[in-house]
Amino acid sequence: MECTVCPFECGIDRSRRLGVCRASDRIEISIAQFHLGEEPPISGTHGSGAIFFAHCNLRCRFCQNYEISQLGHGHPVSNERLIEITLELQKRGAHNINLVSPTHYSEQLIPILRKVRPKLRIPVVWNSNAYEKVETIRRLEGMVQIYLPDLKYHSDQLAKDCSSAPNYFYYATKAITEMVRQVGQNQYNPDRTLKSGIIIRHLVLPGHTSDSKRILDWLAEKLGTDIQISLMAQYYPVYRAAELPGMNRRLFRNEYEDVKQYFLKLGFKQGFIQDLSSASSNYTPNFDQPGI
Ligand code: SF4
Repeated sequence: MECTVCPFECGIDRSRRLGVCRASDRIEISIAQFHLGEEPPISGTHGSGAIFFAHCNLRCRFCQNYEISQLGHGHPVSNERLIEITLELQKRGAHNINLVSPTHYSEQLIPILRKVRPKLRIPVVWNSNAYEKVETIRRLEGMVQIYLPDLKYHSDQLAKDCSSAPNYFYYATKAITEMVRQVGQNQYNPDRTLKSGIIIRHLVLPGHTSDSKRILDWLAEKLGTDIQISLMAQYYPVYRAAELPGMNRRLFRNEYEDVKQYFLKLGFKQGFIQDLSSASSNYTPNFDQPGI
């Protein structure tokens, strides 16, 4: 079958050749574990049940998970094993099943989600880069309760330079609009973990605060200021960040403050704001901790 699952539309048979994402037609995961590095309504008190998928359809030069996403560290899992892992995470008390970077495995994951969903009492989180086709997101309706997409770039040039993603903003905003249509307003459990809804993440990049502001403008205008935003300050230069002019450094405090003040001025009512001290590896999977 020809793969056209994401905007790259490579049109290749992944059992024989690899496309832009370099993933075959067999799901590979890097690790499945409890993860406390997400936003509080996702991590809760004892952790999100995160399953990190190997490979990615974006080529982000500064990816903090580059060993998994770009170098493809992972191992194949059968559908049956993935279902077992999911149920094991639930049994051990995960607040949710957090599918991290699932886009390039959408086709393979849909039948798995269809099978496992009736056995789950906890929500499924689609934790993606949003470089996705709206048709693919539509097929997830009813199987995913929480969307956790990035909205990375407004500028097409920036998206091309940093992630080799043509028309990122066009595709990501269409995908996010569909996600919002599906889940509506955020609903919470009594313990304040998210039951269903959406949190949109934006990572502020060094030297690109005006791009962040254009993104916030779009969010306020098109989705309204009730939408929950996670304004991230955790950029730190890893992997190939030195190839990006001006981005081989952390964020300056005044850059993040500038975007934060703009966010508040636009009137967003719900959101997560980070401290610059979050620019560390606390948000990446912990390979010292045993996985499932
Ligand atoms: S999922 Fe991978 S192979 Fe399929 S269209 Fe996207 S980049 Fe190409």
